Amino acid sequence: MKLRFLGTGAAEGVPAIYCQCETCQTARERGGKELHSRTQVMVDETFCIDFPPDAYYHALQGKFDYSQMQTLIVTHSHLDHFYACDFVLRGYKYTKTDCKPLHIYGNAEVGKVYEESVKREMRDEVRANIVFHELHPFAPVVTADGYTVTALSAQHSKTEDAYVYLIEKDGLSYLHLTDTGRLPMETLDYLQRIFERRENKINGVCFDCTFLFYTAGAVSRHMGLGDNQAQQEEMRARGIVGERTVYMITHYSHNSNPLVETLEKAQMAYGYVPTYDGFEIRLTK
Ligand SMILES: [Zn+2]
Ligand SMILES: [Zn+2]
Ligand SMILES: [Zn+2]
Repeated sequence: MKLRFLGTGAAEGVPAIYCQCETCQTARERGGKELHSRTQVMVDETFCIDFPPDAYYHALQGKFDYSQMQTLIVTHSHLDHFYACDFVLRGYKYTKTDCKPLHIYGNAEVGKVYEESVKREMRDEVRANIVFHELHPFAPVVTADGYTVTALSAQHSKTEDAYVYLIEKDGLSYLHLTDTGRLPMETLDYLQRIFERRENKINGVCFDCTFLFYTAGAVSRHMGLGDNQAQQEEMRARGIVGERTVYMITHYSHNSNPLVETLEKAQMAYGYVPTYDGFEIRLTK
């Protein structure tokens, strides 16, 4: 299973859209690896987790388009994860390509944001080619591309049931853990029930690491490295992850000074692979 991290920044991006702090100025000046656009991951060049305002920019950077993408998994409705206005352009005179039907999966709030975002400009023939599916936690679905996708409850929002995701195909599994603080008990219990008896544990985990070297503790909407480590130990004790599990971090905030030297320090100290925009990794058993 190949993961391609198209964007690795928090809501405001790095450099942040309206900020002149030292970190943002340095990132702006250096460019390249220091730039973290809003979070989006592509799995096996087939489907995406989240569709941020930078989804178009990601397509330019990666030399691809979204016309053949059939599946979009959305974590929650926050603007850095779901910019639905662009779906208006998925037909009519805006493309000369036959776009595949697009299935968008998410919680009820994502469904509402989709409707609000497209109601002014979407034509009927474009609308007919996009289907929204409301997901419920701990109820796996199989996508058109043959992936088993399970929404799991996150600790992130008081106004919606934000999800993190377990993605599985051909005996490989990826656990996408952003945006969330430390996971709710019911999510850990669910994962334990699935993996404790399996020999092949989760192959890859990507942690929300908005705070980097700041540890947020039990009650927070995001995590830092200390929280990631606590979570890793808990998952280990529950038989969810194993010796061969690969750990990554993503969703950095400018407040955490996520310059390359900081991310390298994080890797040295914790052993987690820092993701950068355009970073690719292949998960194996
Ligand atoms: Zn976010
Ligand atoms: Zn800043
Ligand atoms: Zn969020």
